[in-house]
Amino acid sequence: MKKFRKARCPHCGDQLKIIQIWSIKTQGEYQCPKCGGFSNIELDFTLFHISISAIIISGLLYAGCIFFKIPLSIPLILIIMLPYFIFYILSVFLVRLKKPVVRKKPPQYCRGKNPYNSPQNMYDSARKDNNITNSAIDRSFPRKQR
Ligand SMILES: [Zn+2]
Repeated sequence: MKKFRKARCPHCGDQLKIIQIWSIKTQGEYQCPKCGGFSNIELDFTLFHISISAIIISGLLYAGCIFFKIPLSIPLILIIMLPYFIFYILSVFLVRLKKPVVRKKPPQYCRGKNPYNSPQNMYDSARKDNNITNSAIDRSFPRKQR
């Protein structure tokens, strides 16, 4: 349950108010009113599990109503919607603020030339080269060998 906590500014550690979190939840960026630092708004992955559970629980409740032929009334609909309300409330405590990454991602052509991956890539390219050579040989000597 440590995951359920209020979001904090990653720059100055200032804790956000629930209303603040609620208002920024749908946005992508947050500016701290105290230090003015920008941070990225991310949602904890736990929220994904909670949302799936909410859908399953309310789906089961609805299926139960149909199965037992219980007429849908407003209180019953509210009960069915309850998992969603819980999900919305919990989502406030699963908003995370992270310092924006200034460093840009390497361009597409640099990938695969990463020095940290070089042994793997050397092996990969060597294997590819072998294949190319083999296929080239195959093509250049089509029927002579037989
Ligand atoms: Zn701050």
